[in-house]
Amino acid sequence: MLGWSINLFRIRGIQLAVHFSFVLWLAFAADQGWRDGGLAGLIWGVATLLVFFTCVVLHELGHSFTAMHFGVGVRRILLMPIGGMAEFDSIPRQPSRELLITLAGPAVNFVIAAVLFLFVGVPQGWPLGDFDYDANLAGFVQLLLSWNLLMGCFNLLPVFPMDGGRIFRALLATRLSYLRATFWAATVGKVLAAIAALIALLVFHRYLTAVLFAFIYLAGEAEYRAVKRRELEDAQWREMALRFHLPPRDEPPVLAP
Ligand code: ZN
Repeated sequence: MLGWSINLFRIRGIQLAVHFSFVLWLAFAADQGWRDGGLAGLIWGVATLLVFFTCVVLHELGHSFTAMHFGVGVRRILLMPIGGMAEFDSIPRQPSRELLITLAGPAVNFVIAAVLFLFVGVPQGWPLGDFDYDANLAGFVQLLLSWNLLMGCFNLLPVFPMDGGRIFRALLATRLSYLRATFWAATVGKVLAAIAALIALLVFHRYLTAVLFAFIYLAGEAEYRAVKRRELEDAQWREMALRFHLPPRDEPPVLAP
């Protein structure tokens, strides 16, 4: 599925690609806009989607440029309907570096929000507004500000696969081994996701939201298993390398939201 993508252009050597399903979303936004307000509505719908995804790209570039600063190769940024994904050659196992690379993404959203705040102030209805802003420039900027604040905050939730999960792990890894830190970060994320899924299901009867939290639960489990498998393989490789004088092992690519 991840292979079904279209390459757009390169930014400082990083290939920007969009998943095929993105075209469907673009068509949906255009159609919805056309129904709501004819040609002007169509342009509004497509423009808001493109600007929104520009913010997602800037978030991913925040991660990517910080990673490149630490000498980590960035292969590409893939845009999907659910968000962006940067593909790194590896993630440094030094907690301070993983922390900075991960924090840089949400930080970009907060900087964008702060700059927009200078122009429009606090958007009407914040923080629990319905995002139903006027279809003019001021409304557009308010929408953009709200999105960036939400994107920054949502990514800081301390669960995998969100940036917050990695930040939590990096903080734990200053005291624990990388594997133990991943275990505890994944466990806390899984417990939070399970509680949230139950509340969504039993209290609010929101089935899709419950499915989203079930996905977050599974992502925590997958992250722990991946790190554990990697540690086992590394240990086996070190043993083999000692015996047969082998070169260091290549790192597999790492995907980061
Ligand atoms: Zn991120």
